[in-house]
Amino acid sequence: MRPGQRTLLRHVLVVWALCGSVTGCKGKSDATTPAASGQPPFMSTVAAPIAQMGDDAPAPEKTDGFDGKRALAQVAKQVSFGPRPSGSGAIAKLQEYLLAELKSYGCEVETDSFNSSTPAGRVPMKNLLVKIPGDKTGIILLGTHYDTKRLDNFVGADDGGSSTGIMLELARLLCHQGGKYAVWIAFFDGEEAVRKEWADPDNCYGSREMAARMALSGDLPKIKAFLLADIVGTRMPHFKRETASTKWLVDLVWSTAKRLGYGSIFLDEDYAVSDDHESFLKRNVPSVDVIDLDNGPNGDVYYWHTPQDTMDKLSARSLAIVGHVFLESVKQLQAK
Ligand SMILES: [Zn+2]
Repeated sequence: MRPGQRTLLRHVLVVWALCGSVTGCKGKSDATTPAASGQPPFMSTVAAPIAQMGDDAPAPEKTDGFDGKRALAQVAKQVSFGPRPSGSGAIAKLQEYLLAELKSYGCEVETDSFNSSTPAGRVPMKNLLVKIPGDKTGIILLGTHYDTKRLDNFVGADDGGSSTGIMLELARLLCHQGGKYAVWIAFFDGEEAVRKEWADPDNCYGSREMAARMALSGDLPKIKAFLLADIVGTRMPHFKRETASTKWLVDLVWSTAKRLGYGSIFLDEDYAVSDDHESFLKRNVPSVDVIDLDNGPNGDVYYWHTPQDTMDKLSARSLAIVGHVFLESVKQLQAK
């Protein structure tokens, strides 16, 4: 990162070793859906592990209706498109899929197509935004990125896929619910840096675009909270309190997780990560990033930004836990 910018501190030494700098590169994963079309939702090579993982998902009635197996299948669907970097044919197919899936839930979805200047030239990108209306002025914003990093044979099951699978499942549940405040769900393109290293401004293209557009439209001050998920599907996750995130919002999410019995997963340890939440933090929107980027050799996400970020690393149970925490956190925010 450039001087003056917040440095990604998580496991600095490991990042140094992997990325060659202390600025950190970021990671995420991917997943797929059991399409309503009746087509096999995932590649045959990963079908067996998915079935095994799905078995440890709690019943949806124990997680506010959130279906961890369904979210995992949504990740598998994404992965089935192959590597999905911004501007690729594969991500275009995924965009079509996401739009069709969201509309099938009855969601109102807006799209924003734009071009970004990147180290690889101008790249077409597209943000998707689900808008669930509320009774009063105010917006609760949820978010994920759905692009995958430009690496050979990288399908981003956890990095890009897992959080997108969760947001699809949240949309399926929330698009039929009213509330005091509106709930918007953002699917960002272009989070991953085009270069190998994470160095501003080569990252977070989609979230910067959306935050800028909301500033122009006047929606930005209406956002009461932004909850970002990224790299959330690993089998034994440990989420730490991201240090730049807004303290009261971190407290709300972490206390919610503990009340639900997930205190051994949402830890009271600090961790600094650069991610899409910064695009909104810079504009004074209260924001939190729920992310597990423990990518050391023995870490939870040792496969980060490698071809090993595949479906077999994921757990339907982990997706269900994060989905449950997000649903209950939205309830808490609706009551404020
Ligand atoms: Zn990544």
